[in-house]
Amino acid sequence: MVDFNVIAQFFDELEKIPGKIDLAEKFKEFDLQLETEDSRIIVYLLQGILGPAFKTKELGVAEKLCLRALEKSSGVEEKVLEKELKKVGDLGLLTQKIMLKRKQTTLSFNSFSLKEVYDKLLKITELVGEGSQNSSISLLCELLSISTPVEGKHLMRFVSGVKRLGVGDGILLDGLRREHEVERKIVDRAYYLTSDLGRIALMLKQKKDLTKIKIEYFNPIMPALAERAEDVKEIFERLKECYGEVKYDGMRIQLHKKNGKVKLFSRHLEEVTNMFPEISEKASKIKNDFVVEGEAVGIDVETKQILPFQELMTRKRKNDIKEKTADLPVKFLTFDLLKLNEEDYIDKTFEERRNELVKLGFEVTQGRMLKSQKDIQTFFNESISNNNEGIMCKNLKSPYSPGSRGFHWIKLKQSYSEFSDTIDVIVMGYFLGKGKRTEFEFGGMLAGIKDSQGNVNSIAKIGSGFTEGEMEDLQAKLEELQTEVKPLNYNTSLKPDYWVKPKLVIEVKSDEMTYSKIHKACYNPETKTGIALRFPRMIAIRTDKTVDEATTEEEIKKIIKDKENVY
Ligand code: AMP
Repeated sequence: MVDFNVIAQFFDELEKIPGKIDLAEKFKEFDLQLETEDSRIIVYLLQGILGPAFKTKELGVAEKLCLRALEKSSGVEEKVLEKELKKVGDLGLLTQKIMLKRKQTTLSFNSFSLKEVYDKLLKITELVGEGSQNSSISLLCELLSISTPVEGKHLMRFVSGVKRLGVGDGILLDGLRREHEVERKIVDRAYYLTSDLGRIALMLKQKKDLTKIKIEYFNPIMPALAERAEDVKEIFERLKECYGEVKYDGMRIQLHKKNGKVKLFSRHLEEVTNMFPEISEKASKIKNDFVVEGEAVGIDVETKQILPFQELMTRKRKNDIKEKTADLPVKFLTFDLLKLNEEDYIDKTFEERRNELVKLGFEVTQGRMLKSQKDIQTFFNESISNNNEGIMCKNLKSPYSPGSRGFHWIKLKQSYSEFSDTIDVIVMGYFLGKGKRTEFEFGGMLAGIKDSQGNVNSIAKIGSGFTEGEMEDLQAKLEELQTEVKPLNYNTSLKPDYWVKPKLVIEVKSDEMTYSKIHKACYNPETKTGIALRFPRMIAIRTDKTVDEATTEEEIKKIIKDKENVY
């Protein structure tokens, strides 16, 4: 079993690696020396998680708690630590610095193994309720008590949810492929079917055949993603005859049912069974075992119309789901069948899957065959006039492609053709409330978008569009993400009252885009201007999206190019 110190040294090495080095090779060389279980864990740690989302909670201890643990273990006062943190700019570096001082007086010869550290971190994620904060601090102190400064640095970063090592899934998949001499497409597929890269690393070490992997009940697969089209013409050119479906503005759900038991997973593979009891109830009445995918949409009790996504998400906020099922009923509109009894369906054509899905007994998404460009246009117009988001056109002959984006599913939303589109931005910080809003410690947010280097560049200050409920919700979320120091990859000339870690995505609408001397999105060094949203207002808190799914600079540039007249 490998010592955690060896891992921390490896992380340190990765961090110092200059730009172009082959990270996959580096990972391969390191992983070669590891035993099976250690290989599983190191893969998770490099992903910045402790396990897949459907099994393990995310670790993100608030900065304040980390500082309290550091105070307890080092004896340096929290206030001093806070001040020092502002100077050093990173909780990991601060921990290392403080521990280096301590190490001059106490030298420890013990150390934790990787597995021991991992188990303690897992314990932190499992703590709930009263006393959980104190228990987290104790566990952290225990870890820090016999850590070296380098171990302390990486532990603290990991615990507080900062990922800096730059080893993405693609690099890990590539490293594993090289180490075990397996084709990349086999490793990729195994990952998409299990959603568990640690498990794949373990299976490879155990010399198991990855091609034998099938979909397992209650282990969600990674969802297939759609490409976007500019217009109806592009859809017809790419697909010719296709099956068109209404694109609903709801929440994607992967439903697994076996032997009467039902589990629901979100698009990010988190279990959301408790959010929709009526969907489980309906599913349990249907014969057979199956894995289906569909969109959960909220229904207006009076008009029976589909409600916008943000209304549906209030279910996430409230604990009183029972009440909500009456006030805000939900419909589950299925659109794909991934497994039926013991047979995987993903390699069958869309046509076969849809035919079986219809027979199953769930309500299915509204759709029909589209044979010409005119057919597609008519279907699109109908969908929009019924207040839907747009359409999804699907290639009849293509299999289901887990985990990847492709042109077998093409989406067209109304908003691309007009600049009434909403964009998904990353919250970078927030401002304290003034006037009526002082009641909330929240008066608006600074938001940005990512560029190709992973920097977050500001694009708007958003001060409107939230209800009181949403403000409460935002305040709680933002407090958790608060950080004393501006993250190194943020570019903006504004200074919010608090910075937050890049985690939260919100959907905003604006009237147009303008050049800006303040904001840094799509920055042009010649004119020294960036792009800003004019009159931005929040439409929804997108807890279903990760920051990697927020709108990118590239997409904004494309919108600007298509609509030069927005200025
Ligand atoms: P987007 O979030 O804009 O990338 O669009 C993809 C999402 O549209 C999927 O993840 C589904 O949640 C949703 N969606 C709505 N209606 C459908 C449909 N008929 N077929 C597939 N996906 C749909």
